Amino acid sequence: MSHERKCPAILIGLPLVLALTASAWGGADFVIGAAKVKAGTAFSGLLPVPGPNGTATAIPFTVINGARSGKVLALVAGVHAYEYPPILALYRLKALIDPKALRGTVVMVHIANLPSFKRRTIYYGPDDWKNLNRVFPGDANGTTSQRIAAVINDEIVGRADVLLDMHCGDGNEALIPYTYWMISGDKAFDARTRDLALAFGLPHIIIDDTRGRDLKDSRYLGNTAILRGKPAITTEAGFLGGTDEASVSRNVRGVLGVLRHLGMTDGAPDPVTDPVWIDKYEVVDSKWDGLFTPRVDMGYFVRQGQIVGTITDYLGNWKEDVRAPFTGILLYVIGTPPCNAGEPLFEVGRVKEK
Ligand SMILES: [Zn+2]
Repeated sequence: MSHERKCPAILIGLPLVLALTASAWGGADFVIGAAKVKAGTAFSGLLPVPGPNGTATAIPFTVINGARSGKVLALVAGVHAYEYPPILALYRLKALIDPKALRGTVVMVHIANLPSFKRRTIYYGPDDWKNLNRVFPGDANGTTSQRIAAVINDEIVGRADVLLDMHCGDGNEALIPYTYWMISGDKAFDARTRDLALAFGLPHIIIDDTRGRDLKDSRYLGNTAILRGKPAITTEAGFLGGTDEASVSRNVRGVLGVLRHLGMTDGAPDPVTDPVWIDKYEVVDSKWDGLFTPRVDMGYFVRQGQIVGTITDYLGNWKEDVRAPFTGILLYVIGTPPCNAGEPLFEVGRVKEK
């Protein structure tokens, strides 16, 4: 632009303007644990979980700190560490999200429950046999699961604006993809979480008003975020401890949709436009230790009273035909033989009429 060459003031002023613009857009440093991540860069590391005698375990994480400012989106995988598709999806997303182009910050927890991942346990952590997604907000002086929850609550929930708690069917659960939309009772806030659920794009959305309202006993990660005023959803995509491509890419697509919805990356959001809303759900637990044989596949419709599966004891004797409590969709069903008293057998969701 020749006219600029004639004007030294503009030549001098231009770098200043650029610098001001960059700082106005630019994300600040993002601090997590002992790490300070500069805007426009990514960093991966381990968050230590202090134990009574040193470090109890660690949480592998990645921060992608965008060059421009925006929301802080936390993506948490591996709260249940036998649930692999969300874990694998985050490694893929780590390579897909460019910090130079990102607005805001993505914080990934790759494997929240590393002890469980290493020991290949379903539901429970191997050190204390607690379910990490029932001990939030955690206890820094408690057992390993409680300590992990406390670190996630402080370092991840505390720094996030929006949180996705990414699950799927555990190693024993045949499950169809769905999202829990947790209702807080605040209409404007709930509209934001509903839009998140739509943006993630799974075809069934559970309208979930069953979560507690006491932050000291929030139990679930997603609920903890919501009680701290941060929109959050719990997603479920994947099943039976598998790593199938459809489930992994469903998780990848879901996150990319949320990034666009939040304006963190370019492109139009592509929300699910006409999901099946589930307005009531029930998890049916086993009354017995023994073996469960399902008679219905995941995703099928069951009517009230229909036999979903049969329990036998360790000697092969019939114990119970377990029936659907109401008519609805079989959202998940145990797909491997062991069943234990007090543990889930299946979940039925009632379809909301328009
Ligand atoms: Zn889970």
